[in-house]
Amino acid sequence: MLPGKTIERIRVLHSDVLRQPSRDFSARLKGRDFEAVHRRGKNIVARLSGGGVLVVNLGMSGRLVLVRDEAQTTHPAVRFTLSAGPPLVYDDVRRFGALEVMDESEWAVRDHRLGPEPLSSSFTARGLHADLSRSVSPIRSWLLDQRRVAGIGNIYANEALHLAGIHPQRPAKSLSEHEARRLHRAIRRTLSSAVDNRGTTLRDYRDSSGIPGNNASKLLVYGRDQEPCSHCSTRIHRFVFGNRAAFCCPNCQPVGVSSSNG
Ligand SMILES: [Zn+2]
Repeated sequence: MLPGKTIERIRVLHSDVLRQPSRDFSARLKGRDFEAVHRRGKNIVARLSGGGVLVVNLGMSGRLVLVRDEAQTTHPAVRFTLSAGPPLVYDDVRRFGALEVMDESEWAVRDHRLGPEPLSSSFTARGLHADLSRSVSPIRSWLLDQRRVAGIGNIYANEALHLAGIHPQRPAKSLSEHEARRLHRAIRRTLSSAVDNRGTTLRDYRDSSGIPGNNASKLLVYGRDQEPCSHCSTRIHRFVFGNRAAFCCPNCQPVGVSSSNG
C-alpha cells in the first residue's frame, strides 16, 4: 500500500509523539519515497528512498491509517500527504507511541538491541530455555522485555502463558526444559493466530487499512476476569504486578512448579 508513494507534505499535530524536533523530522521525510515496509518487534519500519528509515513505535494505542474518511481517525498526531491515494495518518489516543527518522546505522544499533522475532527461525526452544535460566524475573515481565524477545505485548504474554500452563509470576529460571518448550510453542501459536486475526481490538487498534482486528473474541484469559476457563471451568483470576494486569487460570497455571511438568 505504501511502497512507491512519495511523501509530499508532513503535518505534525502533536509533536510529543516525535523523538526529534518536528522541523528536523519533516525535513528528513519530505520528498522521499516509501520503499519496503516491515515490522520489527513493536515497530513498523519503513525504508525511505535515498537511505534511512521511518520507525514508528505504536506504543499502547497508536495506529497508522490510510484515511479515506476523516471519521477513521479520532486522535491524529501526524498526517502525511502522499503522491497518490489517501493520506497516511498516525493516530494515537494516549500518545505513548513514537515516530523517528533514523539513518541506517542508527536503526542497526536499535535493531541489534531487540531480541529475536518469535516467529523467526532464530527463536528456538533451546535458546529460550537457556535465556530463561539466566533470569529470576517473573516470566510475564521477562516476556515483555523487548531485549529478550521482540514484539510480545501484555495481552499475548498472558495468552501464551495460559496456553503453556505457566503462572505469570513464576521466576523465568524456574521453568523446566519441557515448560520452556511448551512456552515456545504457545508463543508462536498465540502470535501467528493474532496475525491471522489482524491484531486485537481492545481499545482502538486498527490495522493500516482501518479495519478493526477481530482477535479479541479469541482471547482465552486476557480481559476475562471471573469468567470460566475454557479448559477446566475454574474462574479466571485477574491481578496486577509490574503495573500491568495479569490474567490466569489458578488451576491450569499453578503458582508453584506442578509435578506433571517433566
Ligand atoms: Zn483452567
